[in-house]
Amino acid sequence: MSSFNPKLLNDPLAAADELLEGLVEAYNGQCYKVGRRSIVKNDIPEGKVALLVGGGAGHEPIYHAMVGKNMADGAACGDIFAAPAPNIVHEATNAVDRGNGVLYLYGNYAGDVMNFDVGAELSEADGANVRTVLIADDVCSAPPERKQDRRGIAGLVPIVKIAGAASQTATSLDELAAVADKACLQTRSVGVAMAPGSIPATGKATFELEQGKIGLGMGIHGEAGVGEIDMTTADELTVQVLDLILEDYEKDTDVDALKSGDEIIFYINSLGATTMMECLVCMRKAKEYFEAKGIEIFDVVIGPYVTCQEMAGISFSVTRVDEELKQYWSMPCESFCYSKMEGPLKVSKPKAAIPVPSRTRVQKVTGPITTKLDPSLTKSSEGLTLEEAQEMILKIADTIIKAEPILSQADRDLGDGDHGLGMARGFTALKNEVEEHTFANLRDLYQTAGSALLSTMGGASGVVFGSLFLAGGKTMAGAEYFGSHELSHLLNRSLKDVMNRGGAKPGDKTMIDALHPAAEAAKENIDKPLSEAIHAAALAAEAGKEASKDMIATMGRAKTLGEKTLGLPDAGAISVSLILKTMDLYINK
Ligand code: ADP
Ligand code: MG
Repeated sequence: MSSFNPKLLNDPLAAADELLEGLVEAYNGQCYKVGRRSIVKNDIPEGKVALLVGGGAGHEPIYHAMVGKNMADGAACGDIFAAPAPNIVHEATNAVDRGNGVLYLYGNYAGDVMNFDVGAELSEADGANVRTVLIADDVCSAPPERKQDRRGIAGLVPIVKIAGAASQTATSLDELAAVADKACLQTRSVGVAMAPGSIPATGKATFELEQGKIGLGMGIHGEAGVGEIDMTTADELTVQVLDLILEDYEKDTDVDALKSGDEIIFYINSLGATTMMECLVCMRKAKEYFEAKGIEIFDVVIGPYVTCQEMAGISFSVTRVDEELKQYWSMPCESFCYSKMEGPLKVSKPKAAIPVPSRTRVQKVTGPITTKLDPSLTKSSEGLTLEEAQEMILKIADTIIKAEPILSQADRDLGDGDHGLGMARGFTALKNEVEEHTFANLRDLYQTAGSALLSTMGGASGVVFGSLFLAGGKTMAGAEYFGSHELSHLLNRSLKDVMNRGGAKPGDKTMIDALHPAAEAAKENIDKPLSEAIHAAALAAEAGKEASKDMIATMGRAKTLGEKTLGLPDAGAISVSLILKTMDLYINK
């Protein structure tokens, strides 16, 4: 077990809010805070194509400190290691929008994608024009043929730097998206970890690693990579990591292999505890490596810009640059995270532009969460009254808040260890909204509960569990009682919405594996009394959670662990099963 240095904080749960307040002060008037947790530049000109970045906190200085001159216009920030909630993305979008489109540029994590997509829908309803380019540079998180599944890691620094410069002159959102897309296509990263960092709120490690081992290809939270190797020298590791990067350019049919005469931006990132001394020792070897291959380093970036608390680790990123990207790279920039002075870099002879393949990684925002309500859906003539349904939701909140350590442990085993914290945060907010409040009807109750979760949780589960109540609540217009029909419609409608939103299917080892059997059981028992229907649904959810132990994760953060996920249940499935069990206990009390 690792031991960590004490962290200098106040309330660890307030760290994300407090660091943002400090960051705004550090910008000394050049940026300001918007809404709950966004930071925005104060001099964005009218008509500018806006660049919005964002993601979880805890990785300082990214993402929020990338706002600045010729960098991002704003950042939507989440809680520690959790994606920003949709309302944060929405507020940030409105604040940066100058009428000529907003490009979202952030790392490819399920939680971020879902929250940014919902945020985009909210902004589009206000008239904003939004496009998304996902950063997916971590070559060890998926093979080239599935590179759209890759995580975004340190490569985001050169990519955002280039996009920030391009956003100064871009006349349209398409033009900016094309540059960001080209920079993403030409960027590859590999990270290694020697020791984990710790989660501020729990003091626990983000992952376990035997002493004397190096996790090769690990993600920035400690997600699995290509495997573990024995501790080695800086020189040997540098060669191994660079070999992996070059091999990937070679295997990827969308780009040319990196060859003699190519020019690159080379970036060495420290994950937090790895010192500048170590980075510079690696730099020396890397220069020798590239020189031997005739690859020219156009510029170098070295520093702890993409961190994971006190994690000991390092990543190398390579961005191949052509004349266009070099021009954007050479533009000076200024931000708390990264600044670059004006002045010519090495002059080199002009080369042909890198062709951008027709297949583009620009993401289309998916359709809206909700569809029109079928009025025939609600027809129970008995069940819980509105007041009882309210009491039941409060019981669910208490159960989830109490289960925080269990849920966090389950997520630590397979993900990043924050699921319990996110759930506890969301259900505490839900309790505040639902307790001592009089609701007009069941729909009002469920929508209030869902909104509280969606706007406070962040992470993949913020959207997922927010939808559970929000989408389900839609089916309850006109219902007087929470009966078997309402239960079935609630579970089936939210199942449909969550699957639609997150793309997971039964068998992918997510909360769907508990929700799907529960929804089926509720449907089969729709004409039985509520007490029987909820009991069947709770048993089915429990069995589904147990069955998730035998599944190999193919969605969410756990998917990169592959077969190593066998034997352990999915954290979200445990949450679903706890929710239904609490409902069962309440109804059959
Ligand atoms: P994050 O993955 O952003 O850290 P949490 O740790 O709060 O978010 O939640 C993780 C849980 O979210 C997983 O255990 C899984 O059940 C659920 N989840 C992740 N991705 C999806 C998805 N695409 N669809 C449904 N559920 C998902
Ligand atoms: Mg998690």
